[in-house]
Amino acid sequence: MIPFNKPHLTGKEAHYMYQAVYNGKLSGNGEFTKKCQRYFEQRYGFKKCLLTTSGTDALEMCAMLCDLKQGDEVIVPSYTFVSTALAFLREGAKVVFADSMKRNPNLDAETLESLITPRTKVIVPVHYAGVACDMDAIMAIAERHNLLVVEDAAQAIDSYYLASGDGRAPKPLGSIGHFAAFSFHETKNITAGGEGGLLVVNDERFVRRAEIIWEKGTNRAEFFRGEVNKYGWVDMGSSFLPAEINAAFLWAQLENLDEIQTKRKALWNCYYEHLSKIITDYNEQNTSARDTSLNKAVPFALPDIPAYAANNAHMFYLILPSLEARTALIKHLKENDILAVFHYLSLHNSQFYKDKHDGRSLLECDRYADTLVRLPMFYDLSLDDVTHICTLIKELYINS
Ligand SMILES: *Cc1c(COP(=O)(O)O)cnc(C)c1O
Repeated sequence: MIPFNKPHLTGKEAHYMYQAVYNGKLSGNGEFTKKCQRYFEQRYGFKKCLLTTSGTDALEMCAMLCDLKQGDEVIVPSYTFVSTALAFLREGAKVVFADSMKRNPNLDAETLESLITPRTKVIVPVHYAGVACDMDAIMAIAERHNLLVVEDAAQAIDSYYLASGDGRAPKPLGSIGHFAAFSFHETKNITAGGEGGLLVVNDERFVRRAEIIWEKGTNRAEFFRGEVNKYGWVDMGSSFLPAEINAAFLWAQLENLDEIQTKRKALWNCYYEHLSKIITDYNEQNTSARDTSLNKAVPFALPDIPAYAANNAHMFYLILPSLEARTALIKHLKENDILAVFHYLSLHNSQFYKDKHDGRSLLECDRYADTLVRLPMFYDLSLDDVTHICTLIKELYINS
């Protein structure tokens, strides 16, 4: 059986967790937490980093920092994980769902401006599959309307926005918006021992409040730096810090981040080559067999990486022509002991939100909900496994 995901262990996790335990500092914000936060700040140029217990928590901190009033509007893609929307809904905001692009599931920057009203306060682009949204366009719209931008970078560790051809350096995803949230859940490229996350604050104005919210509404961080001589309750907040053993686990993964990324990209490229070949073969087979004008359809479409986006190999997905075609592919793989999965029922159609949605149809989101399938993608998968999976897919479409 080839599972859909399997968390990777680099070998040092237990060692560092043992070290954290015997350092005698078990709660949050100890040495391993500081090491991880410094790593992200230095490697990616994030202004201020705070580890959290999950990506959801990091999004909730972002929502609190946006200081929303009842009825303020937040624009969120509908094709995403629940937490992207829920974090803002909990703060009393009205969530306005945006459609995806035709070319990939990311938020469509071209129709974004039509959703903005005088109540709009925040835009939340989700870098789906670790592939950048069109951040130049989104930031320009945000600036024009004086809005905050929260990047949901849960899937986007070590990925980049490549400003096109004008000599600017690539920008790490998570460094562009006012805030960003990453996830270290076990299904992501790196994990903090199952659950974990990171809040990034890029706008200096919000750093102090972020630390206070992180420390249960107290100014404890300032106290530990010797900036005040006692600490107390100064604001809203909650318990967002992970324990040191989670940070220790994450540190072992960070030490191996380059190796993890290199392997994942090799697997991704292997999928891409094999599956492109299937599309070519399929077209040739159908061209010679029948009238070419009738056979423009492809058996499936491959992931789209725009010229402005790098690939962090978080996910390998296919887009099938219909729900029936996707069901058939998943069934065929399952019969051969391979688990492929689909995800994201559009949030605007969810049981919880459908009555609160304003009724606009979001056709691209619905299309991805029906036709996108994710193939197994994890560090311990081998190139042979990928070749095997692609051979099975080929059986469905190519007559041998
Ligand atoms: C994984 C994920 C989250 C939530 O992260 P957790 O660490 O599981 O709370 C949020 N948004 C997106 C897009 C995700 O993929």
